[in-house]
Amino acid sequence: MSPKLTHVPTQLYIDGNWIDGSQPTAPIKNPATGEVITEVSQGAEEETLTAIAAAKAAFPLWSKHDPLERANIMNQIADLIEEEAERLALIMTLEQGKPLKEARSEIQTDIENFRWNAAEGQRIYGEIIPSPMDHHWLIRKQPIGVVAAITPWNFPSNMIARKIAPALAVGCTLVMKPSKETPLSALALVDIFDRAGLPKGVVNIVLGSSKTIGKVLTESNDVKKLTFTGSTKVGQLLYEQSAPTLKHVSLELGGHAPFIVFQDADLSLAVESLLAAKFRNNGQVCTAPNRIFLHEKIKDDFVEQLLKKISDVKVGNGLDDPDIGPLINESAIEKIQNQLSDATQKGATILYGGNRLTDGEYRDGLFFEPTIIDGITNEMNIYYEETFGPVIPLIGFTETEAVIAAANDTEFGLASYFFSNNLQTISQTASSLDYGIVGVNEMAISNAAVPFGGVKHSGFGRENGKYGVEEYVEVKFININTHLKK
Ligand code: NAP
Repeated sequence: MSPKLTHVPTQLYIDGNWIDGSQPTAPIKNPATGEVITEVSQGAEEETLTAIAAAKAAFPLWSKHDPLERANIMNQIADLIEEEAERLALIMTLEQGKPLKEARSEIQTDIENFRWNAAEGQRIYGEIIPSPMDHHWLIRKQPIGVVAAITPWNFPSNMIARKIAPALAVGCTLVMKPSKETPLSALALVDIFDRAGLPKGVVNIVLGSSKTIGKVLTESNDVKKLTFTGSTKVGQLLYEQSAPTLKHVSLELGGHAPFIVFQDADLSLAVESLLAAKFRNNGQVCTAPNRIFLHEKIKDDFVEQLLKKISDVKVGNGLDDPDIGPLINESAIEKIQNQLSDATQKGATILYGGNRLTDGEYRDGLFFEPTIIDGITNEMNIYYEETFGPVIPLIGFTETEAVIAAANDTEFGLASYFFSNNLQTISQTASSLDYGIVGVNEMAISNAAVPFGGVKHSGFGRENGKYGVEEYVEVKFININTHLKK
């Protein structure tokens, strides 16, 4: 184990116990150095079934807890995360690669998720519907039951927190499966749940083959809801696998965000916003701007400003807090290289970067230069495929209606952004973009209070805010006849 990685459990956590799985352990690598930082336990069908049984057994008690008691435990979790934020950020940077400052800010969002949902869990109000005098028509919101949560590696802590916090708040119990690339952030969180006094069986974590575990979770009649964040391909598969048991399903899937700069925009704000959003987590973000539409009247100016600023972007080991860390694995690098080579063969021009970094400090890691590529058309793969890397693809436009149509020309519909100072353009564009989220002169589009989610092949369901909580409740109608015979 790396000397910097301390106090992280590496086993499965089922029914309040840390246990070894039945399968051979798996190595976890630091993508900045290639170093194996530790080995984690692996389970399979048997452990997943045991975890489901533990969550099922814990449900009656947890769901009947006084909401205030649940909130107290969740606030205790938030306090412990806050106390241990630096350690959790370090674990994340070591296994995922992102710069420490980004890891710290992800941990802050966990704290916000737990505190916000702890409060909201006490406000799951039902309704009284006007009824005939001799009846009471009541609506109660009740927890769905056992929830399966499958999460990705790009936000290895917060993708868990934003599912677990609302589920716990309303009284659900969970079995979670994090990505094989980043189990340590998940295990460190579960360790905190344990120390905060979460009753046994309320949250369980299984590690191992995602295919095997995913199949058991989706096929189980005891699992009443699947919440998944990850690729569209896997989301579609899990949706299909969940059909026979008629589970509730929420899917937070891929994105391919357009970023439109109109001619009346504040250009320096747009340039700075683009760099910050595109290079956050090295572009490995479902809401990362992926197609940059620039009005022809401001395009040269914008590109000049962009080129000046991009040369300051520092790439390095996340522990040194650069602007960009490594990518997650070799296939992430291959995907970028394939998209760039396809685009240049079809006429695009690389204005900056374009290469894997392999010398000196980059030798053993998975680093790629920040890249700008111009002349992108809809004949190129990069126009339609999510990139998940530090690449800025530029496209010129002249007409508002045409650029909106181009921005909507994708199977995805998660986040979108545009910059304009014209009220009419703002109003028309915001309502016409076929996306779950629209940032107008603003890139901060996610926090604990506001709904997050997509349309089309970006999935369905919402996380965060009151809409996120509603994903974990059933609506029950109770009709009480008070006209009883004596
Ligand atoms: P992924 O390959 O779909 O994996 C996501 C999770 O699914 C991981 O835990 C993975 O486990 C698991 N998985 C893979 N195959 C499975 C199967 N057959 N059955 C059950 N589980 C399976 O996605 P990723 O590469 O980790 O994450 C990147 C993707 O997530 C991107 O498309 C990104 O846009 C999307 N994303 C979306 C949001 C959003 O809120 N909309 C947020 C973040 C990321 P293993 O890793 O162990 O195989």
